[in-house]
Amino acid sequence: MEAVVLRQFGSAENLRLETVPVPRPGKGEVLLKVHACGVCYHDVINRRGNLPRTHVPAILGHEAAGEVVEVGPDTVGWKVGDRAATLQRMSCGECALCLSGRNSLCKTDNRFFGEELQGGYAQFMVAPVRGLGRVPSDLPWAVAATVCCTLGTAVHTLRTRAKVKAGETVLITGASGGVGLAAVQLAKVDGARVIAITSGEAKVAALKEAGADEVIVSRGLDFGSEARKRTQGQGVDVAVEIVGSATFDQTLKAMAPGGRVVVVGNLESGVVNLNPGLVIVKELEILGAYATTREELDESLRLTAKGLIRPFVSEEVALADASRAHFRLENREVAGRLVLVPPAA
Ligand SMILES: [Zn+2]
Ligand SMILES: [Zn+2]
Repeated sequence: MEAVVLRQFGSAENLRLETVPVPRPGKGEVLLKVHACGVCYHDVINRRGNLPRTHVPAILGHEAAGEVVEVGPDTVGWKVGDRAATLQRMSCGECALCLSGRNSLCKTDNRFFGEELQGGYAQFMVAPVRGLGRVPSDLPWAVAATVCCTLGTAVHTLRTRAKVKAGETVLITGASGGVGLAAVQLAKVDGARVIAITSGEAKVAALKEAGADEVIVSRGLDFGSEARKRTQGQGVDVAVEIVGSATFDQTLKAMAPGGRVVVVGNLESGVVNLNPGLVIVKELEILGAYATTREELDESLRLTAKGLIRPFVSEEVALADASRAHFRLENREVAGRLVLVPPAA
């Protein structure tokens, strides 16, 4: 099969198309013919070598959708022809954390697609069925591939972690990416007022179209004060921190007393200086949000199928162009999601 193989961590050019053997499904696994795989900033971080659980050679990609073409031994519930999309990571479904709904914290099985498990930058991939959600028949493959990591992440972040209520103000950094555009729309569906932060003037229109009430172009700007200005000095109730270290300081400045910051991305893998005094006097809550659960994926597929949330697949590109896709994402040339499409097998 054709696959994009990373043999050495580093720049985008290290992603090269190769011919490799088709993997075989084991117990509890299926073989998927990949129809689409989203390109996520997580993949860029992975490619640079910043995710310690990935070992090269590696095939990246945790946003895959495809049809089952082979079922491994002792694998129940799935048959050839079923349509599936991957969750980002596995969970055992049986430990205390899983049983309390905290599947993204499961330690019994914490394998991640594109890290310990082969990812979807390939014509075929093996997937444990515990890591799969079912794709409705009318949903296009490219949309199905990206729902989990975009809207699924937004559902996990805004509903499960931040518990956003109608009437609250939600600030979103990195708002013009795939997660950001989903979060903007979901916050509006849930009755919040949205202040979107983006790095470029070119992305303002997409954010307005997604429903953002305010858009702040942040490059070189103190968006913390600007957000306070646009909330009559009150600050925001919830912040979705998608950029991470580069914007964290300004995000903290934007918070209203009692505000909740949910950290879901850290694009440059950097660290932050935090003034504990600010957290104390405002009684801020700083929360993390990691992976989407199957229930959150199902809810996301439902919201998408009902047309309540518009998917932002900006472009479908050939699998062979993975390197170029990474380059464009790193250079902030992408609004929404780029999706790789493997050649028909
Ligand atoms: Zn992703
Ligand atoms: Zn578990």
